Amino acid sequence: MDSVGVAAAAPDAGPGPAWQSKCPWGAPSTTSISCSLADVMSEQLAKELQLEEENAAFPEVVAAAEGPFITGENIDTSSDLMLAQMLQMEFDREYDAQLRREEKKINGDSKVSISFENYRKVHPYDSDSSEDEVDWQDTRHDPYRADKPTTTPRRGFIGKGKDITTKHDEVVCGRKNTARMENFAPEFQVGDGIGMDLKLSNQVFNALKQHAYSEERRSARLHEKKEHSTAEKAVDPKTRLLLYKMVNSGMLETITGCISTGKESVVFHAYGGNATEDKVIPPECAIKVFKTTLNEFKNRDKYIKDDYRFKDRFSKLNPRKIIRMWAEKEMHNLTRMQNAGIPCPQVVILKKHVLVMSFIGQDQIPAPKLKDVTLSSEDMKKAYYQILNMMQQLYRECNLVHADLSEYNMLWHDGKVWLIDVSQSVEPTHPHGLEFLFRDCKNVSQFFQKGGVAEALNERELFNAVSGLNITADNEVDFQAEIEALEKMNEDHVQNHGKKLSTFSSDGDPPIYDE
Ligand code: ADP
Ligand code: MG
Repeated sequence: MDSVGVAAAAPDAGPGPAWQSKCPWGAPSTTSISCSLADVMSEQLAKELQLEEENAAFPEVVAAAEGPFITGENIDTSSDLMLAQMLQMEFDREYDAQLRREEKKINGDSKVSISFENYRKVHPYDSDSSEDEVDWQDTRHDPYRADKPTTTPRRGFIGKGKDITTKHDEVVCGRKNTARMENFAPEFQVGDGIGMDLKLSNQVFNALKQHAYSEERRSARLHEKKEHSTAEKAVDPKTRLLLYKMVNSGMLETITGCISTGKESVVFHAYGGNATEDKVIPPECAIKVFKTTLNEFKNRDKYIKDDYRFKDRFSKLNPRKIIRMWAEKEMHNLTRMQNAGIPCPQVVILKKHVLVMSFIGQDQIPAPKLKDVTLSSEDMKKAYYQILNMMQQLYRECNLVHADLSEYNMLWHDGKVWLIDVSQSVEPTHPHGLEFLFRDCKNVSQFFQKGGVAEALNERELFNAVSGLNITADNEVDFQAEIEALEKMNEDHVQNHGKKLSTFSSDGDPPIYDE
């Protein structure tokens, strides 16, 4: 490429006259240049233009180097460096133009725009874009910015006689209110009132303000939710910190991995660490992390809200604390079961929404759920009687109803059934306690009847056997109705006489409803 070709190429690349007046590397004092076609084509002019462009675009190169192409009239544009730089410049300029197009496309007519300024290659070359963009920081000509509201003097009015205007003047107030809308959060759409001389009454403004604040809080909550969510097989930063602390303190040796991710919790396996004075840490532990997103827990309200043990606290707590209560509930329930000798995980420690317990299984392999294991008919029968026994113990000794009992929450380990997942378990006096028990009975009966255990009671018989009640209805609908009637009776009793029916006490025989 010869020197003329390159020099001529540069002005060609610019978009005509606009380029000549605005491009900083070509910002020659064009006043003296006549722009006849012959002139433009002349090699001489091309060289001059090029020199001026170079001076503007590469000032530091000009200052630092003593190369032949910058020192005098005889510019040697055959320099490879120069060509490369010119081409690069051209390329960067195209890149910037593309950026500007994208910027425009994204911003559209939006009042608040984003800028790709920092991504531009050729920073000095900006000028031809600034005219058609609204720079949100440059408020000199911002048509959306309200005029500075005229201040009312201290005495509270301006003007004299019948031209007097007080600060309570409807028009002044209305305009002020309109101007104050710009203090709302940017995502709050206030519409486009330009040129309308909008006057908002105090009433409308206050309603808008209230709405803007609640919207702001809502979006903050959404954001927070994201932060706190326990993603699939991962935990949020706060939970991670809790787990790190457990390992750092030596309580846990290592956390090896995830055993299960459910809608409400994530369970990890860990090797136990050093025992402390008051605690023996099992060799293998299960860590149940209750998810701190609220979605799944919303529909569990009914379990805890009506549980009198948590009743007084429930109303005072924020949702995040309620989730901790699920973990707490699981801990208390497991402890009760442990004390009654029911096979279940042993509680190690509870920290906020993280419950550490003994691991049911071995060498990182969790015991299979009852639904996943194939038992011999003998083991199946054994398991059935064990469960019947455990349900009675749970009801009579622990004063609990599992409330999510099924083959999914029973593990088969060491030749026996272990009960897990008791965060939702409630006391029988819970307003829906007996319904939950009936549901548990249905699950158990169906599983063992299908599994070929001929001795398995049907759900109604099982319910009576567990609860000690004697509901005689011989079909499900009537049975259910009687259960609900009993719950209602109990609820009325609670309303009238205090917390619970004496026959529901945890010690002694199962409650007798038939008075
Ligand atoms: P979810 O509420 O998510 O159902 P679970 O308490 O049932 O929580 O635990 C989910 C799964 O994690 C269980 O099905 C079981 O496989 C495993 N798991 C939970 N606790 C233990 C434990 N202590 N030992 C071994 N595995 C466990
Ligand atoms: Mg479960």
